[in-house]
Amino acid sequence: MRIDKMLANMGYGTRKEVKKLLKSGIVRVDAKPIKDAKTHVNPETQEVTVYGEVVEYREFIYLMMNKPQGLISATEDAHDTTVIDILEPEDHIFEPFPVGRLDKDTEGLLLITNDGKLTHQLLSPKKGVGKRYFATIEGEVTEADQEAFRNGIVLDDGYETKPAELEIIHSGPTSEIELVITEGKFHQVKRMFESVDKQVTYLKRISMAGLELDEDLEPGEYRELNDDEIELLH
Ligand code: URA
Repeated sequence: MRIDKMLANMGYGTRKEVKKLLKSGIVRVDAKPIKDAKTHVNPETQEVTVYGEVVEYREFIYLMMNKPQGLISATEDAHDTTVIDILEPEDHIFEPFPVGRLDKDTEGLLLITNDGKLTHQLLSPKKGVGKRYFATIEGEVTEADQEAFRNGIVLDDGYETKPAELEIIHSGPTSEIELVITEGKFHQVKRMFESVDKQVTYLKRISMAGLELDEDLEPGEYRELNDDEIELLH
Protein backbone atom coordinates (compact mmCIF):
# COMPACT_ATOMS: atom_id res chain seq x y z
CA MET A 1 0.00 0.00 0.00
CA ARG A 2 1.24 3.52 -0.78
CA ILE A 3 2.29 5.39 2.33
CA ASP A 4 0.22 8.48 1.46
CA LYS A 5 -2.93 6.30 1.16
CA MET A 6 -2.20 4.55 4.43
CA LEU A 7 -1.71 7.80 6.34
CA ALA A 8 -4.76 9.42 4.73
CA ASN A 9 -6.84 6.35 5.67
CA MET A 10 -5.66 6.65 9.26
CA GLY A 11 -6.82 10.27 9.48
CA TYR A 12 -3.55 12.16 8.96
CA GLY A 13 -5.25 14.46 6.46
CA THR A 14 -6.03 14.48 2.76
CA ARG A 15 -3.58 12.95 0.29
CA LYS A 16 -2.29 16.50 -0.37
CA GLU A 17 -1.81 17.24 3.34
CA VAL A 18 -0.13 13.89 3.87
CA LYS A 19 2.27 14.66 0.99
CA LYS A 20 3.33 17.83 2.83
CA LEU A 21 3.74 15.87 6.05
CA LEU A 22 6.01 13.42 4.23
CA LYS A 23 8.04 16.23 2.67
CA SER A 24 8.72 17.67 6.13
CA GLY A 25 10.56 14.44 6.97
CA ILE A 26 8.69 13.47 10.12
CA VAL A 27 7.39 10.18 8.73
CA ARG A 28 9.64 7.15 9.21
CA VAL A 29 9.34 3.57 8.00
CA ASP A 30 11.37 1.14 10.11
CA ALA A 31 13.16 4.18 11.56
CA LYS A 32 14.17 5.54 8.13
CA PRO A 33 12.75 8.95 7.09
CA ILE A 34 10.54 8.56 4.01
CA LYS A 35 9.65 11.60 1.91
CA ASP A 36 8.28 10.09 -1.27
CA ALA A 37 4.47 9.74 -1.21
CA LYS A 38 4.68 6.91 -3.74
CA THR A 39 6.69 4.67 -1.39
CA HIS A 40 5.01 1.32 -0.76
CA VAL A 41 4.77 -0.03 2.78
CA ASN A 42 3.45 -3.21 4.31
CA PRO A 43 1.57 -2.21 7.47
CA GLU A 44 1.70 -5.84 8.68
CA THR A 45 5.48 -6.09 8.75
CA GLN A 46 6.81 -2.54 8.76
CA GLU A 47 6.65 0.07 11.50
CA VAL A 48 5.45 3.47 10.39
CA THR A 49 5.87 6.42 12.75
CA VAL A 50 4.70 10.04 12.57
CA TYR A 51 6.45 12.44 14.96
CA GLY A 52 7.89 9.28 16.54
CA GLU A 53 4.46 7.80 17.29
CA VAL A 54 3.64 4.39 15.85
CA VAL A 55 0.73 4.35 13.38
CA GLU A 56 -1.52 1.39 14.29
CA TYR A 57 -2.90 0.58 10.89
CA ARG A 58 -5.97 -1.54 10.36
CA GLU A 59 -8.36 -1.82 7.50
CA PHE A 60 -11.61 -2.78 9.20
CA ILE A 61 -13.63 -1.55 12.12
CA TYR A 62 -16.40 -3.56 13.83
CA LEU A 63 -18.72 -1.75 16.22
CA MET A 64 -21.66 -2.99 18.27
CA MET A 65 -24.24 -0.29 19.00
CA ASN A 66 -27.26 -0.45 21.25
CA LYS A 67 -29.35 1.58 18.85
CA PRO A 68 -31.70 3.96 20.64
CA GLN A 69 -35.18 4.79 19.38
CA GLY A 70 -35.30 7.87 17.15
CA LEU A 71 -32.18 7.25 15.05
CA ILE A 72 -32.18 6.20 11.41
CA SER A 73 -30.14 3.13 10.37
CA ALA A 74 -28.35 4.81 7.47
CA THR A 75 -25.11 6.66 6.81
CA GLU A 76 -26.90 9.97 6.13
CA ASP A 77 -30.38 11.40 6.15
CA ALA A 78 -31.72 14.80 5.11
CA HIS A 79 -34.02 15.19 8.15
CA ASP A 80 -33.08 12.83 10.96
CA THR A 81 -30.00 11.91 12.95
CA THR A 82 -28.45 8.64 11.81
CA VAL A 83 -26.57 5.98 13.75
CA ILE A 84 -23.38 7.13 11.96
CA ASP A 85 -23.90 10.77 13.00
CA ILE A 86 -23.44 9.83 16.68
CA LEU A 87 -20.09 8.03 16.22
CA GLU A 88 -16.91 9.60 17.62
CA PRO A 89 -14.91 11.58 15.00
CA GLU A 90 -12.06 9.03 15.02
CA ASP A 91 -14.44 6.26 13.94
CA HIS A 92 -15.61 8.22 10.88
CA ILE A 93 -12.16 7.80 9.33
CA PHE A 94 -13.09 4.20 8.50
CA GLU A 95 -16.30 5.22 6.69
CA PRO A 96 -18.43 2.62 8.47
CA PHE A 97 -22.07 1.80 7.69
CA PRO A 98 -24.82 -0.12 9.48
CA VAL A 99 -25.28 -3.81 8.65
CA GLY A 100 -28.93 -3.85 7.63
CA ARG A 101 -31.66 -1.73 9.12
CA LEU A 102 -33.62 -1.39 12.32
CA ASP A 103 -36.74 0.78 12.23
CA LYS A 104 -36.53 4.27 13.70
CA ASP A 105 -38.51 3.12 16.76
CA THR A 106 -36.61 -0.18 17.19
CA GLU A 107 -33.82 -0.49 19.75
CA GLY A 108 -30.96 -2.89 20.22
CA LEU A 109 -28.12 -4.65 18.50
CA LEU A 110 -26.83 -2.93 15.41
CA LEU A 111 -23.54 -3.91 13.87
CA ILE A 112 -21.60 -1.09 12.22
CA THR A 113 -18.58 -1.84 10.07
CA ASN A 114 -16.72 -1.02 6.86
CA ASP A 115 -16.27 -4.71 6.00
CA GLY A 116 -18.38 -5.06 2.86
CA LYS A 117 -17.74 -8.77 2.42
CA LEU A 118 -18.90 -9.62 5.93
CA THR A 119 -21.94 -7.37 5.52
CA HIS A 120 -22.88 -9.18 2.35
CA GLN A 121 -22.57 -12.56 4.09
CA LEU A 122 -24.68 -11.49 7.05
CA LEU A 123 -27.43 -10.03 4.88
CA SER A 124 -27.51 -12.62 2.12
CA PRO A 125 -30.94 -14.30 2.07
CA LYS A 126 -29.17 -17.55 1.15
CA LYS A 127 -27.28 -17.61 4.46
CA GLY A 128 -30.43 -17.28 6.58
CA VAL A 129 -28.61 -15.61 9.48
CA GLY A 130 -30.69 -15.76 12.70
CA LYS A 131 -31.82 -12.56 14.44
CA ARG A 132 -33.46 -12.66 17.86
CA TYR A 133 -35.87 -9.93 18.96
CA PHE A 134 -37.58 -9.15 22.24
CA ALA A 135 -41.00 -7.53 21.81
CA THR A 136 -43.94 -6.28 23.79
CA ILE A 137 -47.21 -7.13 22.08
CA GLU A 138 -50.63 -5.56 22.46
CA GLY A 139 -52.86 -8.66 22.78
CA GLU A 140 -52.58 -12.19 24.05
CA VAL A 141 -49.95 -14.24 22.22
CA THR A 142 -51.06 -17.88 22.05
CA GLU A 143 -49.78 -21.33 21.20
CA ALA A 144 -51.74 -21.02 17.94
CA ASP A 145 -49.55 -18.01 17.07
CA GLN A 146 -46.45 -20.06 17.87
CA GLU A 147 -47.68 -22.80 15.53
CA ALA A 148 -48.55 -20.27 12.80
CA PHE A 149 -45.11 -18.63 13.04
CA ARG A 150 -43.45 -22.07 12.88
CA ASN A 151 -45.40 -22.91 9.72
CA GLY A 152 -44.84 -19.56 8.00
CA ILE A 153 -47.02 -16.47 8.10
CA VAL A 154 -48.53 -14.80 5.04
CA LEU A 155 -47.78 -11.06 5.21
CA ASP A 156 -50.01 -8.26 3.88
CA ASP A 157 -48.23 -8.34 0.49
CA GLY A 158 -48.77 -12.11 0.09
CA TYR A 159 -45.18 -13.10 1.02
CA GLU A 160 -44.95 -16.24 3.13
CA THR A 161 -42.28 -16.02 5.83
CA LYS A 162 -39.80 -18.79 6.58
CA PRO A 163 -40.32 -20.78 9.81
CA ALA A 164 -39.76 -18.55 12.83
CA GLU A 165 -39.32 -19.56 16.46
CA LEU A 166 -41.69 -17.73 18.79
CA GLU A 167 -41.11 -17.99 22.53
CA ILE A 168 -43.81 -16.68 24.87
CA ILE A 169 -42.30 -15.07 27.97
CA HIS A 170 -45.59 -13.71 29.27
CA SER A 171 -49.06 -13.94 27.78
CA GLY A 172 -51.87 -11.55 28.73
CA PRO A 173 -53.60 -8.38 27.49
CA THR A 174 -50.01 -7.19 26.97
CA SER A 175 -47.63 -10.02 26.12
CA GLU A 176 -43.85 -10.36 26.05
CA ILE A 177 -42.13 -12.59 23.55
CA GLU A 178 -38.84 -13.45 21.89
CA LEU A 179 -38.80 -14.22 18.19
CA VAL A 180 -36.02 -15.60 15.98
CA ILE A 181 -36.29 -14.86 12.27
CA THR A 182 -33.83 -15.74 9.51
CA GLU A 183 -34.90 -13.10 7.00
CA GLY A 184 -35.03 -9.33 6.92
CA LYS A 185 -38.17 -8.21 5.14
CA PHE A 186 -39.30 -4.61 5.63
CA HIS A 187 -40.93 -4.22 9.11
CA GLN A 188 -40.97 -8.02 9.26
CA VAL A 189 -41.63 -8.60 12.97
CA LYS A 190 -44.34 -5.95 13.13
CA ARG A 191 -46.03 -7.29 9.99
CA MET A 192 -45.90 -10.89 11.23
CA PHE A 193 -47.84 -9.88 14.34
CA GLU A 194 -50.24 -7.76 12.30
CA SER A 195 -51.03 -10.92 10.33
CA VAL A 196 -52.32 -12.51 13.56
CA ASP A 197 -54.15 -9.27 14.52
CA LYS A 198 -51.68 -8.13 17.17
CA GLN A 199 -49.53 -5.05 17.47
CA VAL A 200 -45.88 -4.71 18.39
CA THR A 201 -45.57 -1.82 20.85
CA TYR A 202 -41.85 -2.21 21.68
CA LEU A 203 -39.14 -3.96 19.68
CA LYS A 204 -35.51 -4.64 20.52
CA ARG A 205 -32.98 -6.82 18.70
CA ILE A 206 -30.97 -8.85 21.19
CA SER A 207 -28.76 -11.00 18.97
CA MET A 208 -27.65 -11.52 15.39
CA ALA A 209 -25.59 -14.37 13.92
CA GLY A 210 -24.84 -15.58 17.47
CA LEU A 211 -23.54 -12.14 18.52
CA GLU A 212 -25.34 -11.04 21.71
CA LEU A 213 -26.08 -7.41 22.53
CA ASP A 214 -23.82 -6.31 25.40
CA GLU A 215 -26.36 -5.36 28.07
CA ASP A 216 -23.84 -2.93 29.62
CA LEU A 217 -24.39 -0.68 26.60
CA GLU A 218 -27.05 1.93 27.27
CA PRO A 219 -29.18 2.95 24.27
CA GLY A 220 -26.96 5.21 22.14
CA GLU A 221 -23.71 3.66 23.39
CA TYR A 222 -21.40 1.51 21.32
CA ARG A 223 -18.12 -0.33 21.57
CA GLU A 224 -15.70 -2.24 19.36
CA LEU A 225 -16.19 -5.98 19.00
CA ASN A 226 -13.51 -8.12 20.64
CA ASP A 227 -11.53 -10.69 18.62
CA ASP A 228 -13.80 -13.60 19.68
CA GLU A 229 -16.89 -11.70 18.56
CA ILE A 230 -15.31 -10.81 15.20
CA GLU A 231 -14.37 -14.45 14.68
CA LEU A 232 -17.91 -15.57 15.54
CA LEU A 233 -19.29 -13.48 12.69
CA HIS A 234 -16.86 -14.74 10.03
N1 URA B 1 -38.76 -6.12 12.25
C1 URA B 1 -39.41 -4.95 12.35
O1 URA B 1 -40.62 -4.87 12.20
N2 URA B 1 -38.68 -3.85 12.62
C2 URA B 1 -37.34 -3.86 12.81
O2 URA B 1 -36.74 -2.83 13.08
C3 URA B 1 -36.68 -5.11 12.70
C4 URA B 1 -37.41 -6.22 12.42
